[in-house]
Amino acid sequence: MNAELLITNASLITWEKPNRILEGQALLVGDGLIQELAASAELERRYPDVERLDAGGQYVMPGNICAHTHFYGAFARGLAIPGAPPESFLQILQKLWWPLDLALDEEAIRYSALVCLVDAIRHGTTTLLDHHASPNLIPGSLDILAGAVAQAGLRAVLCYEVTDRNGEAGARAGIAENLRFLNRCKQLHTVGGGGSRIAATFGLHASLTLSNRTLQACREAAPQGTGFHVHVAEGDVDQSDSLSKSGVRVVERLERFGMLGPDSICVHAVHVDAREIALLAETGTWVTHQPRSNMNNAVGIGEVEAMLRAGVRVGLGNDGFSNAMWEEWKTAYLVHKVWHRDPRRMSALDVAQMAIYNNAALAERFFPGAALGVIQPGARADLICVDYHPFTPLTPDNLPWHIVFGFHESMITTTIVSGQVLMKDRQLQTLDEAAIAEQARQIAPRVWARYAQNVGLY
Ligand SMILES: [Zn+2]
Repeated sequence: MNAELLITNASLITWEKPNRILEGQALLVGDGLIQELAASAELERRYPDVERLDAGGQYVMPGNICAHTHFYGAFARGLAIPGAPPESFLQILQKLWWPLDLALDEEAIRYSALVCLVDAIRHGTTTLLDHHASPNLIPGSLDILAGAVAQAGLRAVLCYEVTDRNGEAGARAGIAENLRFLNRCKQLHTVGGGGSRIAATFGLHASLTLSNRTLQACREAAPQGTGFHVHVAEGDVDQSDSLSKSGVRVVERLERFGMLGPDSICVHAVHVDAREIALLAETGTWVTHQPRSNMNNAVGIGEVEAMLRAGVRVGLGNDGFSNAMWEEWKTAYLVHKVWHRDPRRMSALDVAQMAIYNNAALAERFFPGAALGVIQPGARADLICVDYHPFTPLTPDNLPWHIVFGFHESMITTTIVSGQVLMKDRQLQTLDEAAIAEQARQIAPRVWARYAQNVGLY
């Protein structure tokens, strides 16, 4: 074992099951993994020569995981949508997202990823599952993202969203990009002995922009055992479209094409019925919940608690909102209460189940060989330090409520992935935030100008 780092004077939040909070601890990190945890004084005595990181009594916990995001949407910040505001979810796609992703060139793809990765490091999100679209530059686009992720040092699962909205050639190029990148990652994992921080899945936009023919082509192209990452029933329109195309609802349609299963991710699942929930549970398919996005798009709020009770594995994503996952915790905690007008809805325990345990199990599908999202010997050393001073007792039992009401991402001082320190005392170590923001501000007006030309195409 190659000892790399000794994190001392830590209050550990392990997120084991059951969770533990242990004070005065140290963590020995080596080969990208947590090797030992014990009383700080003991490990300091046993490993006098290993580089130290003094946590100064801060909470040290596993980094946050985001189960669904879109780096490509970064330049939407501050963008004005011309004409009348979108009136529906479909119009939001047609007036905002589709003209915007069409406006991305190589530099814009790279910088939209980099600004999101800065945000993720700063806000302690160490693993991200991204869903990419750039119809004017499809081949190699996932390599551009992978290059940015490697530069940042974060962990990410990448895919390209196949869709028919850019014609047959666009759909074919999307399939080819997924296959090429899946193959590249397979080699990376072989060469890197499973130590790679980049993995791949097969992306599909959504049932409503995919013909039966394209779905069949994706199924035939994807190697056995590959999962699909697809938006499902985000708006009602996805269901009416699926019924008219195939006579069955969206989840059943995907099931017919063999696209459900324990490596597949159905994003949102806002408008699914009892049979679809049962299918998701029976097949072990993942669902991800993005409450900020659902509120913003006014698509409604999915029956997340019912899905969890039915045995569906639901994780928490951000759909391109800030990579501050506790914000997503807070929104999930609040929105189900007002949506149902019932303060008993969405316990913080359910939020923790999604954001901690389910997200970790989902991420481990793509990074097999060591545990993620937990502090225990042998787990991956993806860690954050949190400068939180609770003024009421903090226990493993009430921690989820402390996170909802007390934790804030500005308290995160240090971010570590695979034992590599990406932010130390709030100073980024791998990315130059000011230079990246400056360059992004140079690029954004050109992206916005192309976007303005594209509005009206859909
Ligand atoms: Zn999405």
